[in-house]
Amino acid sequence: MTVLINNLCVVGTGLIGGSFCLALKSAGIVEDITGAGRSLETLQTAQRLDIIDTYKTDIAEAVKDADVIFVSVPLGAMQSVFEQIATGLKESGNQHAIITDAGSSKQQVQKIADEVFGQDADRFVAGHPIAGTENSGPEAAFADLYKDRRVILTPSENTNADAIALVVNLWEETGALVETMSADHHDKVLAATSHLPHLLAFGLVHCLENMDDIENIFRFAAGGFRDVTRIASSDPTMWRDICLNNQQPILEMMKRYKDELDMLYNALEAGDGEKLMEVFTHAKQTRDKFTH
Ligand code: NAP
Repeated sequence: MTVLINNLCVVGTGLIGGSFCLALKSAGIVEDITGAGRSLETLQTAQRLDIIDTYKTDIAEAVKDADVIFVSVPLGAMQSVFEQIATGLKESGNQHAIITDAGSSKQQVQKIADEVFGQDADRFVAGHPIAGTENSGPEAAFADLYKDRRVILTPSENTNADAIALVVNLWEETGALVETMSADHHDKVLAATSHLPHLLAFGLVHCLENMDDIENIFRFAAGGFRDVTRIASSDPTMWRDICLNNQQPILEMMKRYKDELDMLYNALEAGDGEKLMEVFTHAKQTRDKFTH
């Protein structure tokens, strides 16, 4: 393998950033990885696990020699992190670094990037790996997380073509399959396929938690309950930020789902087995078609 970039700076060395580092290290295409972030402990853990080579708690300092900056912090921290990156690039005169991110909603991140980076926003390539687990932090990272998984890039019309090509290249080296779409389309698709299911899982557990016989309910929780609620173990901060950053598309999906629940409620109340059978059969056929 030939080295593609000399210095990669990863801001946020948790599950997503840590796995990106491990995958690129195993592909052998990055010379040196600098971690940056908020807590010293997380950065020390990332270094101990060989995710990063060195670290800096000062983000502006960390990006000075970077060729590529990968931002994988919760969405609520993006603005402040982008501001620190902009400061570091300006102070050091680093005019070549390409910036990319992994945030789960894209219109809002692009808006922040445009505001913070101004005329340098053309070197920001917005991205989102459709891969993850319910676990967080550097200990949860693993090199194969992105293998055969999709990564969506949502460049704006101003994004530099060479910057896009380099980011595509990096993701492909992790084993991911890269697709490009508009930020608007991304946010609608993800509201339906990821954000709504997470809200449903959190809501279902919360709803049961407020029932009287909670101990017994969870004691007898079987496979179906575990399958449907696994993602309610995901990080609350991350999911609060995703909801607030993709508010309208998620609200539209919640409305659709509320209508669907009402329809099922009415069918059951009326003892309409035919209707239930029709819905369950169609749902099974659709899921089997798209997941097998
Ligand atoms: P994570 O494991 O919790 O890692 C987040 C990292 O960001 C940690 O290193 C954390 O360090 C750091 N951080 C938190 N707040 C910060 C701040 N204010 N300033 C600087 N660093 C900060 O989370 P993750 O799952 O990797 O998610 C990272 C991003 O990827 C999020 O934007 C998320 O939307 C996106 N994403 C997640 C998934 C998924 O399934 N998990 C999938 C696709 C995309 P500390 O130790 O200081 O908290």
